[in-house]
Amino acid sequence: METHSFYKISPAENFGKGKQAQKGLGVALISYSRGCRISLVPSSESFCTSITWESLTSKTERGNFEVSMSETLKIYTYPDPVLRTSTEEVVDIDEETQKLIDQMAETMYAAPGIGLAANQVGVAKSIVVYDLTPKDKGRNLSVLINPEIVSSEGRIVFDEACLSVIDFSAEVARSAMVKVRGFDRHGRPVDIEAEGLLAICLQHEIDHLKGKLFIDYVSSLKRALYKKKLKKMMKKSKVSNT
Ligand SMILES: [Zn+2]
Repeated sequence: METHSFYKISPAENFGKGKQAQKGLGVALISYSRGCRISLVPSSESFCTSITWESLTSKTERGNFEVSMSETLKIYTYPDPVLRTSTEEVVDIDEETQKLIDQMAETMYAAPGIGLAANQVGVAKSIVVYDLTPKDKGRNLSVLINPEIVSSEGRIVFDEACLSVIDFSAEVARSAMVKVRGFDRHGRPVDIEAEGLLAICLQHEIDHLKGKLFIDYVSSLKRALYKKKLKKMMKKSKVSNT
């Protein structure tokens, strides 16, 4: 598991709409709106990530903001073999599990994405986080531990994408309604009757836990074309990194 630490910015008198604040190793690009978003682009590393209003811990008397230290995890991407690992049941929801859930949530929000499975961040545990709340409506995180689909019905086709399959989307047919059983982060049993986007999201994430990706459902021709494109992209990024 690889973590990315955010830089602590405090205080920051020069934070303002669209302003840039240079602090330590990172450059912070600040853009205000409801649900203020601060993107940190550490100059020493090659990733760019972001944190949201909820990550801001305190407003100082001078109206400045303190950004808490927060960690996101590396999201493994296709064709990394870690995405093909079948996850194991969680038997003990301990402190480590809680920390992992928090980190997974931060990683999902920062990406940004609507769902994330533990093996996408390199942990072979049966844990899924998701949040289908529209961005301007804040956060409403859901956590499912050891989820399983107990029944399914109907058919729905939706253009899917995945944080682990970069630059690719494709129509996938899934069950229109599913009943999912699992546990929440406190170990309480959860029964969900889902339809629409939630049904799609849950099937997509539960597939991840079994080492399955949405790209497995597309035609072999489409997949071959994507692999070709991916090779080109990887070559390009190698050239630009040298
Ligand atoms: Zn996915």
